[in-house]
Amino acid sequence: MTENGSGGGSALDARFASVRQGIEEAARAAGRDPGELTLIVVTKFHPASLVRALAALGVRDVGENRHQEAQAKAAELAGLRTPDGDALNWHFIGQLQTKKARQAAQYARAIHSIDRERLVDALATAETASPIEAFVQVNLTDDPGRGGAAPDEIERIAERVLETPTLELRGIMAVAPLPEEEAAAGAFERLHGYADRLRALAPTATAISAGMTHDYPEAIAAGATHLRIGSAITGNRPNAG
Ligand SMILES: *Cc1c(COP(=O)(O)O)cnc(C)c1O
Repeated sequence: MTENGSGGGSALDARFASVRQGIEEAARAAGRDPGELTLIVVTKFHPASLVRALAALGVRDVGENRHQEAQAKAAELAGLRTPDGDALNWHFIGQLQTKKARQAAQYARAIHSIDRERLVDALATAETASPIEAFVQVNLTDDPGRGGAAPDEIERIAERVLETPTLELRGIMAVAPLPEEEAAAGAFERLHGYADRLRALAPTATAISAGMTHDYPEAIAAGATHLRIGSAITGNRPNAG
């Protein structure tokens, strides 16, 4: 059994089981049904072989944050199925260049990083078999470099998504601030308020994409519906960024 990285099927199995148990415990503690949570395993920087191993464990939803890497893996793994016969859902979770938007729309089932109207407009011209699930990413910090729209832009971007037939507005997404900036719990409370604003605009946009390796129990307590968990399941990322 290897300590780190993607090697060692049984190590991966054990980490996956342990995170699933952690999710169940956090959900139960919050009085929530674990069955209403979608676990997206973030496989960025890992080879396609790791995604294959995850699919064999029944993982259906995988997350990637760099377009070229995601595109290559999705192409290499086209036709891959879980033991239940389900195809993979690729979730794009990183900053997306406007000029790459149409390409990302070819493989992404969901885009969690909708942070500006120009990106929505680019996705409006994409050719999609069915609408892409769209999450408006909000920045929970004062640092524009961290990605995401400013909170006062949420409604404007959401309205643009609602006007766009190639997109289906699902909800809101955020990455928690660094620990030295703010405790995750407080930030997730604010996120919950932004989710309420979005739902007031679009009653079916109920999803909250939040919760990573180090903060998913707090995110579940604050109402997250889509968890994006990487290293706790995959092990440390090779040449991690
Ligand atoms: C990498 C990444 C994650 C997963 O991070 P871990 O700490 O490895 O769980 C989640 N969301 C986004 C946007 C990421 O880039």
